[in-house]
Amino acid sequence: MPAAPTSLLSRRACAASACTDPMDLISDIAANRAAILARIAEASRASQRTPDDVALVAVSKLQPDERVEAMLATGQRLYGENRVQEAQARWTERRARFPDLKLRLIGPLQSNKAEDAVALFDAIDSVDRPKLAKALAEAAQKHGRSPELLVQVNTGEEPQKAGVVPAEADAFIKSVLEEFKLPVAGLMCIPPVDEEPAMHFALLAKIAARNGLATLSMGMSDDFETAVRFGATQVRVGSALFGNRA
Ligand SMILES: *Cc1c(COP(=O)(O)O)cnc(C)c1O
Repeated sequence: MPAAPTSLLSRRACAASACTDPMDLISDIAANRAAILARIAEASRASQRTPDDVALVAVSKLQPDERVEAMLATGQRLYGENRVQEAQARWTERRARFPDLKLRLIGPLQSNKAEDAVALFDAIDSVDRPKLAKALAEAAQKHGRSPELLVQVNTGEEPQKAGVVPAEADAFIKSVLEEFKLPVAGLMCIPPVDEEPAMHFALLAKIAARNGLATLSMGMSDDFETAVRFGATQVRVGSALFGNRA
């Protein structure tokens, strides 16, 4: 298991009050990012894939602003957030500064926040029920803007976790496409913490393949290399890039 970057851990107390030299923080964050990209590239090559086929989503939820600024300074432009309100506060103004920014919603979405989500995000990775698909379809019409959509699959069938269960995935994907007339780009999963992630990644890849879906968002700080080996086209990495969350 990759340890969180010690340089960041040791200055956790400083992070919130910005008492570190911003240049040090940028070089730490840049080193973390370079290391993760190198590991993605290595895992890609080891499984006869091209590193360019795997996008790194930097998960900035609950991270102090100066770490996010440091990450932006490295050139990283693809970010994942798991709450609409937190993302609005963090990114609304930054969007103007970084026109090439891409934001993905990776957390569960309430139907009554669908409009806000459609207005802010480039992609919503957590579509998992008809009520939400309907709200997204209405919001997309109203805003004349449709984010990329992924269907979240609860591969571990955990009651506390969002996502459609595997047995209902095919029918749900079909209904999003046909009933709600929304394009589905692919699938997302978050395996149970206490199980081998590989079997969950394999299951997600299988469901995507039989539905003709190309995008697979799977793998986090502790298991992204395994996910790449099982076909991930996006990995969502938070703590290994930024340091531990507060
Ligand atoms: C927080 C989060 C991540 C990142 O987790 P790390 O272990 O910090 O890499 C990835 N995906 C989702 C859905 C998350 O909520």
